[in-house]
Amino acid sequence: MQYAPIAFTPHAVPVSVDADKCIAHKGCTVCVDVCPLDVLAIDLSKGTAYMKFDECWYCMPCEKDCPTGAVTVEIPYLLR
Ligand code: SF4
Ligand code: SF4
Repeated sequence: MQYAPIAFTPHAVPVSVDADKCIAHKGCTVCVDVCPLDVLAIDLSKGTAYMKFDECWYCMPCEKDCPTGAVTVEIPYLLR
């Protein structure tokens, strides 16, 4: 069963990273380090962070602590 509210598109993961802003290629791993669920990872081939598993507590430190503002967490409508 797909457990997702209608406002939340199932094919999109909740956390997106702006590849133009992400400085993972310079060694940044802040979002990966702060995520309590360990669902973020660095894609070494692209040099950017990305969401590895589609799971999220919407606790927000990845978005707040990213030094370049590259992370956007889409909070599902029903949780707002
Ligand atoms: S904290 Fe921001 S800049 Fe650093 S790896 Fe994550 S998305 Fe990229
Ligand atoms: S909002 Fe929290 S659980 Fe979701 S990716 Fe960011 S740090 Fe991880």
